[in-house]
Amino acid sequence: MKHTEETQVNPRGCKVKRCTTCLVDIVYPDNINPSNFRNHTYICRTCDLKKEYQKEKKRRKNKKVGDKQHLTDMLDGCRARSRKNNILFSLKIKDLRELITDTCPILGIKYEINKKNKQWGKGKGKNNWQTSPSIDRIVPNKGYTKENVIIVSLMANSIKNQATPKQILKVGEFYEELYKEKGIVNG
Ligand SMILES: [Zn+2]
Repeated sequence: MKHTEETQVNPRGCKVKRCTTCLVDIVYPDNINPSNFRNHTYICRTCDLKKEYQKEKKRRKNKKVGDKQHLTDMLDGCRARSRKNNILFSLKIKDLRELITDTCPILGIKYEINKKNKQWGKGKGKNNWQTSPSIDRIVPNKGYTKENVIIVSLMANSIKNQATPKQILKVGEFYEELYKEKGIVNG
């Protein structure tokens, strides 16, 4: 059998090509003709998955607040959590597109994603989770529907998820008073 760059046919009649990236032999079934493949590049499954993974990683790293990738990721995460916890879910990408703004409506923080933490003491150097937009259910025991969700910073969301509005106010007022009493300025 001639060893050329062209498709080789092995004794069983399968077509064998070499992966252009890792040089491993790829055996194509009879009904696929590798010579029809574009640009004469061949890729094995392992290299293909690696390439896809790198592309996906890059897409996620480069996403911007409110762009398609960002909203898709938000929606996917939310859907997965609601499935896990058996919560009604009927949100769509277009709902998020209508709901998202530039800043947190509660804390006035400008939304940022994929940004390293410089400002907050805890978790310094890690991703700045506090400034990420997040989906909050207005009434916690109702589902993720367009009517029952609002997009707020993860910081506001995590505070709100701990207690009722009245309790949150009490804690805030208490510490404001205490700081005044003790002369603490930047608490
Ligand atoms: Zn390969």
